Amino acid sequence: MTLRSWEDVSGEVELEADVVIVGTGPGGAAAARVLAEGGRRVVMLEEGPARPRFAPNYANIMRYHMQEGGSMVALGDAAIGVAAGRGVGGGTLVNSAICWRTPDAVLEGWTEVLGGDARFRPQAMAPVYDEISEIIGVTKTNPDIAGENNLLIVRGARALGLEADLLHRNTPGCVGCGICNLGCPSGGKASVDRNLIPMARAAGALVQGDTKVTKILVEGGRARGVSGLVRHTDDRRVVGTVTVRADTVVLAAGAVGTPRLLHVAGLADQLGPRVGKGLHLHPGNAVMGLCDHEVRMWKGATQGAYFLDPDLPDVLPHTLSMPPGALLMMMGGQGSVAKERLRQMGHMAGCLVMVSDKGEGTVSANADGTANLSYYFEDVDIQNMRAGLKRTCEVLLAGGVKRLLVPIVGVGWVDGIDEAFAAIDAADVTRYQGMYAAHPMATCRMGQSLDDSVVAPDGQAHGLPGLYITDSSIFPTSLGVNPQLTTMAMATILAEGMLG
Ligand SMILES: Cc1cc2nc3c(=O)[nH]c(=O)nc-3n(C[C@H](O)[C@H](O)[C@H](O)COP(=O)(O)OP(=O)(O)OC[C@H]3O[C@@H](n4cnc5c(N)ncnc54)[C@H](O)[C@@H]3O)c2cc1C
Ligand code: SF4
Repeated sequence: MTLRSWEDVSGEVELEADVVIVGTGPGGAAAARVLAEGGRRVVMLEEGPARPRFAPNYANIMRYHMQEGGSMVALGDAAIGVAAGRGVGGGTLVNSAICWRTPDAVLEGWTEVLGGDARFRPQAMAPVYDEISEIIGVTKTNPDIAGENNLLIVRGARALGLEADLLHRNTPGCVGCGICNLGCPSGGKASVDRNLIPMARAAGALVQGDTKVTKILVEGGRARGVSGLVRHTDDRRVVGTVTVRADTVVLAAGAVGTPRLLHVAGLADQLGPRVGKGLHLHPGNAVMGLCDHEVRMWKGATQGAYFLDPDLPDVLPHTLSMPPGALLMMMGGQGSVAKERLRQMGHMAGCLVMVSDKGEGTVSANADGTANLSYYFEDVDIQNMRAGLKRTCEVLLAGGVKRLLVPIVGVGWVDGIDEAFAAIDAADVTRYQGMYAAHPMATCRMGQSLDDSVVAPDGQAHGLPGLYITDSSIFPTSLGVNPQLTTMAMATILAEGMLG
């Protein structure tokens, strides 16, 4: 048996392995595949359910497949909702499957940060991106299932002379049902529980779900294993503990989960002053548009289109879609107002403005073990957000939208571009509504020394031999593009290094 849940554990269970991996998202899955296929005895421990518990509603996905029930908020200049997935497959279970390669300039910058270490240079990453893309089935979104919400953005941006296209996604069997964030009901999305993790299991890896790691074992000055609590998937009562002894411990609990665990396990100080520091988020905010024609934003590829403005290199606008229930909740209103909004919903389009941020935050742990998040913008992020929102208004209008809903508190539908621009220019960040981030990263950065980073270029912690990190917390900077593919590529390279 290589996939176990709470049902397979009672009392204290002890396992031995060469490598124990904490977390089964892109970073954990990619590392597990390489290490297991390289002959290592691998055990993966995952807090969330062993098998998907999908149902087409938000309450279900929050309960089973979002870390901390989807309630994480980074407080600082504003309140930013922070999302991270949970379960065997991690964020890939609930993400929109967008696949970008990190721009060469960003990767070259990392080489400099790493003192010339070339393992993540564009030339080194390219074949790994190719290999992973093949495994997870990355292809360009098929226009036949894209849906009007995506097509409108491409049409509008191209009309303004901007680069725009349908996105590449790891969705080889997509039928365009538009609910990637609730879990793919048809299996059309190639989340890592459908490829990298089965590959690791086929090579002998054991995957244990429902198990939250709380302790990292340290003996003789090096990491020697981990232990965690096993809980019933539904009622969350503790049914046992699992301890895994291994000479290599790989943390891949995500950019919130990994620093949170280091704090909970009492190792944050030993691993240096940068643990949980430097949080980037790719903060995002959306413009909605109302059309005369029917859009039905919930039909088609969930987030299937983007545009780029050469004057805004740190802004990546892409489609925003929501199922009707979530859209109604976002719009608010009661009685006749809600009725009017229900009527409008089928004619609404959405575009998210995502910023490659220079602002930073922190992740630590509260006394109850939950994450404590803060975040503060740099001025340039606000300028980029403002300029991106304005450009997006223009794109939506050019694509066929007649009225605009800008994400500013107290500003309702506006009819023209002047009114939209005035509202955006007048608002400071405290008045931005619905700020959201699904790309936490860079909280245990890779670098040259304990003073400026947590792990070395080989992924091993400066402060604790035998402890590696292979998830999105190791990025030395913000990426500027959606991070899953880069996380998988980096974890692959780091795991190959561990094999020696
Ligand atoms: C709604 C949403 C949409 C997104 N859309 C996209 C997209 O379209 N394209 C893209 O590139 N990226 C997208 N992302 C981001 C992407 O999914 C993440 O960047 C990626 O999953 C991060 O990978 P990771 O390995 O660092 O961590 P995660 O995927 O977060 O995996 C960490 C895993 O560790 C587990 N864990 C945490 N703590 C513990 C513990 N103590 N013990 C045991 N297990 C633990 C968690 O349950 C989780 O399963 C999206 C994310 C979300 C939430
Ligand atoms: S749009 Fe629907 S079918 Fe396509 S990948 Fe997402 S959830 Fe699956």
